[in-house]
Amino acid sequence: MVRASPTARKTGGRPDARRGVSPLVRVPRERIRETVLALLPDVDQAVAEGIAERAAKLIASAYERDRLAFSGRKPSGTMASAIYLAGRMEKVKINQSKIGEALSVSGPTLRTGVRRIKNLLGTEIPKLPGRRERYVCPLCGEAFANLNDLRIHLLRKGIKPTSALRVRMFDDDGILVDKEILEKMKRSLRRRTGD
Ligand SMILES: [Zn+2]
Repeated sequence: MVRASPTARKTGGRPDARRGVSPLVRVPRERIRETVLALLPDVDQAVAEGIAERAAKLIASAYERDRLAFSGRKPSGTMASAIYLAGRMEKVKINQSKIGEALSVSGPTLRTGVRRIKNLLGTEIPKLPGRRERYVCPLCGEAFANLNDLRIHLLRKGIKPTSALRVRMFDDDGILVDKEILEKMKRSLRRRTGD
């Protein structure tokens, strides 16, 4: 399903011929800056400004690479993804759900946007860390130091589909944020306790 966004319809607009930049590639720098500063009240302001600047650059380069990949996408979603990536690149953890809250963007939208920007910019973006330090059982709240221990815990309880769990489905606090798999697990739990 392809939805035409108001910005996508403007592709016929006058491009800035000298710089080859179309008017729709305007990056809302001030909004990014305000959002990052609000998200990181305890971080040195220069560091926060650096993250905001990097996020704006990520968006600009991704748009430059393939503007069509962003047509029909909410700019706030792209902004949320870029802020998250920029934080990682500057080695400052910004909680995904907090970014989502600040910009009214869902976790899946944020993560899809992260993948889109990473795909467009390829090797220019370092890999997100492949592991976290905390994985919380979505059913009982017990925390585990690695994903495998949580898998074993869930397997023992007969909860499916534990093998489908991936590191990226957990946020920085170790909370399982993938709604789809969460629902499947709850259904599996209901089936077990229902009989
Ligand atoms: Zn548990």
